Amino acid sequence: MSLDLPAVIADITATMASMEDRGQVATYIPELATVDPAQFGIAIVTADGRVLTGGDADTGFSIQSVSKVFALTLALGKVGDQLWDRVGREPSGNAFNSITQLEHEQGIPRNPFINAGAIVVADVNLGGHEPRVAIGEMLRFVRYLAGDDSITINEAVAVSETATGFRNMALANYMRAFNNVRHPAELVLGSYFHQCAIEMSCRQLALAGRYLMLDGRHPGGGRVISPRRARRINALMLTCGHYDASGDFAFRVGIPGKSGVGGGILAIVPGRAAIAVWSPGLNASGNSCLGTLALEELARRTGWSVFSPPDEGD
Ligand code: GLN
Repeated sequence: MSLDLPAVIADITATMASMEDRGQVATYIPELATVDPAQFGIAIVTADGRVLTGGDADTGFSIQSVSKVFALTLALGKVGDQLWDRVGREPSGNAFNSITQLEHEQGIPRNPFINAGAIVVADVNLGGHEPRVAIGEMLRFVRYLAGDDSITINEAVAVSETATGFRNMALANYMRAFNNVRHPAELVLGSYFHQCAIEMSCRQLALAGRYLMLDGRHPGGGRVISPRRARRINALMLTCGHYDASGDFAFRVGIPGKSGVGGGILAIVPGRAAIAVWSPGLNASGNSCLGTLALEELARRTGWSVFSPPDEGD
């Protein structure tokens, strides 16, 4: 039977609207605490270019840690595999903002998707420039990926996190002691907090993720990254994209995904689809509660788990 994707999206959107337990919105960034938890959006871009949406798919939200995927892509473009001298590629098994592992591992973060790793990546992307140069480059890159120049940064969110981001400041300074952060912590975090404060809708985020479904190609022509690099980023999303819940996400959904505390998740089905879901309520690991459920249901209905043989679902 052929897949009726619009019907699947409509069903999932209706199911999510009826869910009572939506988790808790992030409050440690005060500006995020003001977001209405009763929202849910989904957007799917297929390899043949169709865009299908459901719910609040055109409402902008703070992409937060989903930005770590785009920042990693940029950093690999700048320093290539040398990045792996400064950041590992293993799941951490710890919370996204954990500090304990860093001491044992001499200031080398486990992977680029926990905060410590993303701060090193931001340090690489800063590359001796002023934060505004790196921030501008990141915004231009995301706009190019999505093919949408209307994407902006929510300055209030960046300011809010700057005022309260003491843990990230501690992580950055601690890694500076190991010379794994090379610029002053406030400059690196100025850049990192703005990258996290990029605001996008599900539609824009799914469009921005197309290069990872297309083996590194930009659908508008040309290449963003090599096929090998695209595969490796997808592998890291599967193994590390949901922090200490990455194993559970792989078990339940089986699709590379990167979450953020704004409630967004970007999920990539290589060769088939780039998907963005958003619902602001989070589970205990800081991942979107309904977003995860929606992706679990989508993978079940479509057979899109990367562990499914082609054209076979449940
Ligand atoms: N800006 C957030 C932080 O650094 C991002 C965390 C997240 O989305 N998991 O804490």
